[in-house]
Amino acid sequence: MKSANMTPCPLFIGGEWIRPGLAGSPVYNPSTGDVIAECPMGGAREVDAAVEAAAAAFPAWRDTPAIERARLLFRYRHLVEEEFDRLCASISREHGKTLVESRGSIYRGIENIEYACGTPSHLFGDTLENIARNVDCETVLQPLGVCVGITPFNFPAMVPLWMFPLAIACGNTFVLKPSEKVPLTSLILVELLERAGLPRGVLNVVHGGRECVDALLAHPKVRAVSFVGSSPVAKHIYDTATRNGKRVQANGGAKNYVVVMPDADVPRSVEALATAAFGCAGERCMAGSTAIAVGKAADRILPQLVDAARSVKVGRTDTPMSQPDMGPLITGAHRERVIGLVESGEKEGATIACDGRGVSVPEAPNGFYLGATIVDKVSEGMRIAREEVFGPVLNVMRMEDLGQAIEAANRSSYGNGASIFTNSGPAAREFKHRVKAGMVGINVGVPATMAMFPFTGWDASFYGDLHIQGREAVQFYT
Ligand code: NAD
Repeated sequence: MKSANMTPCPLFIGGEWIRPGLAGSPVYNPSTGDVIAECPMGGAREVDAAVEAAAAAFPAWRDTPAIERARLLFRYRHLVEEEFDRLCASISREHGKTLVESRGSIYRGIENIEYACGTPSHLFGDTLENIARNVDCETVLQPLGVCVGITPFNFPAMVPLWMFPLAIACGNTFVLKPSEKVPLTSLILVELLERAGLPRGVLNVVHGGRECVDALLAHPKVRAVSFVGSSPVAKHIYDTATRNGKRVQANGGAKNYVVVMPDADVPRSVEALATAAFGCAGERCMAGSTAIAVGKAADRILPQLVDAARSVKVGRTDTPMSQPDMGPLITGAHRERVIGLVESGEKEGATIACDGRGVSVPEAPNGFYLGATIVDKVSEGMRIAREEVFGPVLNVMRMEDLGQAIEAANRSSYGNGASIFTNSGPAAREFKHRVKAGMVGINVGVPATMAMFPFTGWDASFYGDLHIQGREAVQFYT
């Protein structure tokens, strides 16, 4: 059902907010199932206008002293903090994160703005005098030109903030293509940058899906593409854009393993596992989606884990008065896909230790809810073990020793994050050394890096050379 107050979803090109009159894709409030906006599905025409605006703005922005560009970001940081509650409410409304989760995601985004504020120091080059007789050598970090950011639905503010603040701080101009499922929060981010004094054309926004993205990848004036989303699309972006001569960093999907050793602290590992699996309704690339219980660990943790899952209160996130522990999934179609994966596990011989499929939220019967679910006795060949679920579902696998657990984790086609819970230094060291994942946690459920470190990933979790965030991102954007 369409909401009585549809939120406008304009493009932002060359400093103008544009309502293009294009066919739209529905943006839901997943808490109620209502359509709250229509995201215009742009194509080559809109992309060309945005890239040309960014290209026209580049020479003046490139020549703006780095300290002045940083000052814009200091003002921006202040405005994002001032409008913190509005941003949180927008994320919780269009995405379904709880307000606590929305706040956390904006803090992570603010840290990226703070890192970008330090760009004058990040841009120092190296010099070596007399590299040959009477010859000196220096490296200079120069911006590339027009950079593009294509972002997923699951972090409507944080992922765009991984990209454009640093790109523009380095002297580039930018075209952002937010997820068509959650385009509204990014428009607030852009409005605040405009208020901070953004010159026309330095940041532009286009909306759309594959047609829009393919036009961005093909545009001759685009120099670099940052992408975050699912692995098949990440691979398509990487293959297409590199073929077209662009620099690319493309983060993909994940399947993150959390190994629990028999000596692990039970309450601590149960709490961390429940948060890692069910936080953000499991819709995050760093979700701890598979617990590997080693030896007697399964008997020690499973009863408490099931209790923890049963106690997760599911409800609507769009009203500040009644915040649940967990919100809805992004769309009805996505919920059906997640349920289908749970059913496939059942058919293939797994057992359902906690079933969230019957959950209901009486005051919002059309919301896209699914309760916390634990699928036990999962084995490697099952579909639910191989595919990214991206919902509040924790698989439990049982292994005899740490070696088996590491080998199973390493056979995954993804490699984003992996964690171990143990009190043994040698086991922790062995895991850290041998597990094949970009980010590794020891007694930490979600080992995601912060702004000063690269957000890394192996295999199908990352396509490219220089990662998002930190010094590698400065190298990417220069
Ligand atoms: P998605 O791949 O469906 O969409 C991501 C972006 O690509 C969107 O802007 C979308 O419009 C565009 N897109 C979708 N299909 C396309 C196509 N065929 N061609 C060109 N562009 C296309 O991802 P999503 O469902 O929005 O987000 C969830 C995924 O993102 C999960 O797989 C999750 O693991 C991943 N993710 C990864 C990270 C990370 O850092 N590794 C972080 C967050 C999310």
